[in-house]
Amino acid sequence: MRYIEPHAHMVSRTTDDYVSMALAGCQTVCEPAFWAGFDRSSVDGFYDYFCQLTEHEPKRAAKFGLTHYCWLCINPKESEDLKLAREVIDLVPKFLDRPNVLGIGEIGLNKNTRNELTALEAHIDLAARHDQLILVHTPHLEDKLKGTKLIVDALKSDKRIRPERVIIDHVEEHTIELTLDAGFWAGMTLYPESKCTAARAVDMIEMYGGERLWMNSACDWGVSVPLAVPRAALEMRSRGHDHAMIDKLVYGNPRAFLGQCAKFKD
Ligand SMILES: [Zn+2]
Repeated sequence: MRYIEPHAHMVSRTTDDYVSMALAGCQTVCEPAFWAGFDRSSVDGFYDYFCQLTEHEPKRAAKFGLTHYCWLCINPKESEDLKLAREVIDLVPKFLDRPNVLGIGEIGLNKNTRNELTALEAHIDLAARHDQLILVHTPHLEDKLKGTKLIVDALKSDKRIRPERVIIDHVEEHTIELTLDAGFWAGMTLYPESKCTAARAVDMIEMYGGERLWMNSACDWGVSVPLAVPRAALEMRSRGHDHAMIDKLVYGNPRAFLGQCAKFKD
């Protein structure tokens, strides 16, 4: 089996995780910029993080035969500090030309606050001005439906944004349809405790078909499983999906979306 891990926070993972992913058939890993588990004290923390994502982590991944790409932004949680958000958004363009940067992400909302929405709109503007792909993080649990609607509205109201160049991640049963109906791609995050299990993800594939959908582990510093995507492929196989369908979901679809960025090579 071959697969692309389209959303993983590898700076938080061990070299054993890279080995396991490579053994399972992972060819490429993509890392959105995210919250580190603690709030950074200044824009300098983001400068160092962006250097890590664009210089150090690709070299670490290459040692295990994996190609590493990343996305840049200030995450919604730390965007609550609008002064910091503006400083980081001004910093991002200095890194956009680096060879492993695919676009702006993971932007979005966390608690659906006014400040988060302001930072989201600034990120959408940044992506439009620089013709970048967008990867969106949607809020958790009770905030998810309202947050997803706010995000879709913000994206739709900027006429420069083409929905086929945006993926809205962490969709669940109550947000997948509004995401796909609006023309966006949808990502399903496979988590052991929240978000979506493999069984639920495959249910959604069976309900909505396999178009404009991908699966990811979103493995990070918290409880998460770096091999969640190949495990979901096993779930598909146990239900009788054929090789072509599995390959489309875990390889072809992420390749099609990410390939809209000319820098992406698999
Ligand atoms: Zn993430």
